[in-house]
Amino acid sequence: MGLNVIMMGPPGAGKGTQAGRFASDRGLPKISTGDMLREAVRDKNPTALEAKARMDRGELVDDATMIKIVADRLARPDVRDGFVLDGFPRTVAQARALDELMDRLDSGPLIVVDVAVPEQELVRRLAIRRICSRCGSNADPTGGEAACKQCGGTLEQRADDNQDVVLERLRVYQQATRPVLDYYRDRPTFRVVNGAQAPDHVAHELDAMIEDAARRRNGKGGIS
Ligand code: ADP
Ligand code: ZN
Repeated sequence: MGLNVIMMGPPGAGKGTQAGRFASDRGLPKISTGDMLREAVRDKNPTALEAKARMDRGELVDDATMIKIVADRLARPDVRDGFVLDGFPRTVAQARALDELMDRLDSGPLIVVDVAVPEQELVRRLAIRRICSRCGSNADPTGGEAACKQCGGTLEQRADDNQDVVLERLRVYQQATRPVLDYYRDRPTFRVVNGAQAPDHVAHELDAMIEDAARRRNGKGGIS
């Protein structure tokens, strides 16, 4: 049975960072729909151009496009032992489609973690966030870096991190994505972690919560 983790949370919660870290610790693929879309835009993939316009306005890309992207990705063999999904599902329709997909893949239940952070902290974090223009990774938020630590690329503000777009993304989150938490909330494998703590601390709690959820899911067996 795969370790199938969904990292939920508002923009700026740090779910991408945590998803990447957990995935590499466990040797699982991290599937970030935001990264996949930005990569498609960098590659000048024609279907990505319409998506880019919506992303730059802080709006969601349509459900049919996103469900297709994720369905194709989850059809690849590297998700056999599980995956960490970041940025999907963002609507209840996407969450329903994912449940259907999981039934078809027959790889066990989802473990859903909500990385919760107060709104004023999100606005502050997004205002100072810088990402690499070449590889897309996040820079140190304290601003100490001149270039990307991973690849040496130049750092820049993400097109959708300017203040008006940030407020729109938070509004879209409240309206379209919060209901997804209610969709999952009653499941025995749903957890909430306090994302306002230091990143190491969040990672530590997250790890324990996912272990616990996996154990519960498997009966006594633990993660396997
Ligand atoms: P954030 O830092 O806001 O969590 P992401 O990198 O996850 O941002 O996503 C950036 C943008 O990509 C979103 O604002 C949205 O336009 C688009 N996007 C990513 N995932 C989805 C999705 N599952 N459904 C619709 N749009 C998406
Ligand atoms: Zn880089």
